[in-house]
Amino acid sequence: MNLTLDGKVALVTGANGGLGAHFAETLARAGASVAVAARKIGSLDAVAARIGDGGGKAYAVALDVTRRASVVAAFEEASRALGPVSVVVNNAGIAVTKPLLDHTEEDWEQVIDVNLTGAWRVAQEAARHMVNNGSGGSIVNIASVLGLRVAAQLPSYAASKAALIQLTKAMALELARHKIRVNALAPGYIETGINREFFASDAGQVMIKRIPQRRVGRPSELDGALLLLASDAGSYATGSILVVDGGHLVNTL
Ligand code: NAP
Repeated sequence: MNLTLDGKVALVTGANGGLGAHFAETLARAGASVAVAARKIGSLDAVAARIGDGGGKAYAVALDVTRRASVVAAFEEASRALGPVSVVVNNAGIAVTKPLLDHTEEDWEQVIDVNLTGAWRVAQEAARHMVNNGSGGSIVNIASVLGLRVAAQLPSYAASKAALIQLTKAMALELARHKIRVNALAPGYIETGINREFFASDAGQVMIKRIPQRRVGRPSELDGALLLLASDAGSYATGSILVVDGGHLVNTL
């Protein structure tokens, strides 16, 4: 069994920073050619250049997951540049942190449109390409422990991630016959540029005390799970939800 991603083409959404850029670099180090996709093409070019400097192959493509035409165009462009896409990491995601009573229609719609409907658009388009290419593939949806438990002030986010988990299972059921695997990676709290300050604050420290390992995770601690689901190492895994969270989920407090 080939446990690398040599010869594969991957597409990562939301790849211009945070976890997405790290996922793209991890896939490239494992041998994949990687299309890095997000709305801000400038910062994507920097990610692609970093991957190139490390000896990998990457191509930056503009993508807004809230627009079907943009999703279709991104897959066409990535396939033209790198070849048929057989690994997709559905990572683009946003959060609105507000009490339930203050959530507006717009807050709700925005979060659902990116995290759930956007992930569906990308996964469906990916699956159409994989079915046409006839060689199968792997779709990894980036969910969250908040799709499996809840936290205050994140009702739209938690609902979007819970629905993404159900979508993962529904897609796995229908796509297995096409040799397409669909799984979800559900991280706990992982330190990235956007939340570093929060985790250093008093409120962040209180949250960290609820995690059995008493710390937030590092992006590199998701590498094993990502590569398991993306590569042939996970060839019999589909419809599964892989939690990597320092034990957060088993602490019900
Ligand atoms: P982040 O740094 O804010 O990155 C989000 C990415 O999504 C950015 O690259 C952003 O780029 C992209 N994006 C936003 N709206 C988009 C759209 N409409 N179309 C295409 N791309 C869009 O967040 P992160 O912490 O790395 O999180 C990445 C994923 O992991 C999310 O799905 C998040 O829910 C999940 N997650 C994170 C944690 C954590 O602790 N960090 C834990 C569990 C799950 P543009 O703005 O340029 O488009």
